[in-house]
Amino acid sequence: MNELFINGQWMEAQGRKRYELVNPATEELITTFPFAGNADCLAAIGHAETAFEQWGRTTPYFRAEILKKTADLIRKDIDILARDMVLESGKPLLEARGEWMVAANLFEWYGEEAKRAYGKVIPTNRLDKRSSVIWQPIGVVGVITAWNFPAYNPARSWAAALAAGCTVVAKPSENTPLSAAHMASALSASGLPPGVLNLLIGDAAAIGDAMLDHPGLRKISFTGSTRVGKILMDGASRTHTRLSLELGGNAPVIVFGDVDVEAVAKAASGARFRNNGQVCTAPQRFYVHESIFKSFAESMTRQVSAMQLGSGFDEGVQLGPLITQKQRDSVLEVVRQVREEKASILTGGDVPADRQKGYFIRPAVVIDLKDDSILATKEIFGPVLPLFSFSTLDEVIGKANSTEYGLSAYVFTNDLKTAIHASERLNFGIVGINEWAPHGTELPFGGWKQSGQGHESGSEGLFEYMEKKLISIGGL
Ligand code: ADP
Repeated sequence: MNELFINGQWMEAQGRKRYELVNPATEELITTFPFAGNADCLAAIGHAETAFEQWGRTTPYFRAEILKKTADLIRKDIDILARDMVLESGKPLLEARGEWMVAANLFEWYGEEAKRAYGKVIPTNRLDKRSSVIWQPIGVVGVITAWNFPAYNPARSWAAALAAGCTVVAKPSENTPLSAAHMASALSASGLPPGVLNLLIGDAAAIGDAMLDHPGLRKISFTGSTRVGKILMDGASRTHTRLSLELGGNAPVIVFGDVDVEAVAKAASGARFRNNGQVCTAPQRFYVHESIFKSFAESMTRQVSAMQLGSGFDEGVQLGPLITQKQRDSVLEVVRQVREEKASILTGGDVPADRQKGYFIRPAVVIDLKDDSILATKEIFGPVLPLFSFSTLDEVIGKANSTEYGLSAYVFTNDLKTAIHASERLNFGIVGINEWAPHGTELPFGGWKQSGQGHESGSEGLFEYMEKKLISIGGL
């Protein structure tokens, strides 16, 4: 199964190239995997085009049966799937299990939701005319996803696209191919016809180019960095490829003075360091009201310094390694710059002495920062928690909104008026009020500004993979 999956067959890359997949917790080899290129992608698109002729004309009820069976298989095999996700991503086993449960739910939910892709009948201004609007699948879609959620990211797009009646050429991250291969295998075992879902791992730029160049690939759904999102936007004009983009974030968290400091700090540390901060909606910039700043910083430091670091397989571990050496280096570089800014690191920010193998960093809490600190402007994607203080609502809204990102923001207060005014003035696609998880299978997830375009999950996520068609009948 550690191969490409094209037209219903597991196979090598055409160039016979393979690469080594390394365990980020131990730096040991897990396995090797084929490394696909442009030609593999073109072949996959061809098969997906052929498969679309049939799949695009199946009923949503037929597709739902396959997707729900896939959900059941994932649930049945969850121990094996979660174990492989820990191996390739380093995340704690409990998080990996939870992620696979959500992936299963996505397949089940979209299987059902596609049955409700209702169109509409529009009254016309002529007696001899009738007009209606229907939804149809877009066609072949490319799905390029990042490594931070090896199952959730692909499942969100694959489930919606397949439920809509699209066929898929998927390119998950080369860092986490095992989870994606398990998912392809579950779909295939559930009766998905050959060519409907094709899986490529390999040369990202070459595969991306093949997708953008091929007129038969109608849309790319991308989850990853703003940098690559822009490359895809530039290339999309070549064959008018439609795009859905889930890009970076730099989420502000506004903690007002009326909260239970200890409770919010405890939950915040869990939220900030979930998946080691490698989450696009990760709460990043903490703006804490000056009246509680000191006690909040103390409580946070206590909580964070007690967090348990280690192998994702060990009981009680809250933080695994970062995904790669490169990712850890980029976070260590941020910490170095923060030191240069003369900020105070209250805990962490270094490589633990007992973990020289694996890409570990101790979670950090930082104060004494200027508003233009790197921790306020750059998406960190790592375990660093900066605290800034504020005094008024106007001031903090201005600071929170002063970013090119617009994915998610968080507000903590017990005052209804403050909560409503703050949430309505924040320029972000998702706002959590007293809530660290403002997302769900049934909820629209999408960013404003440079955090992306389009939505994933919820009914909005389904329509991303469908085209609206007007059918007008005259001469009646
Ligand atoms: P990260 O740096 O966090 O991995 P990326 O945006 O680079 O985020 O990666 C997200 C996904 O985009 C991965 O599957 C990666 O392989 C892919 N990718 C990287 N570069 C390109 C590119 N030029 N064209 C298409 N996909 C790309």
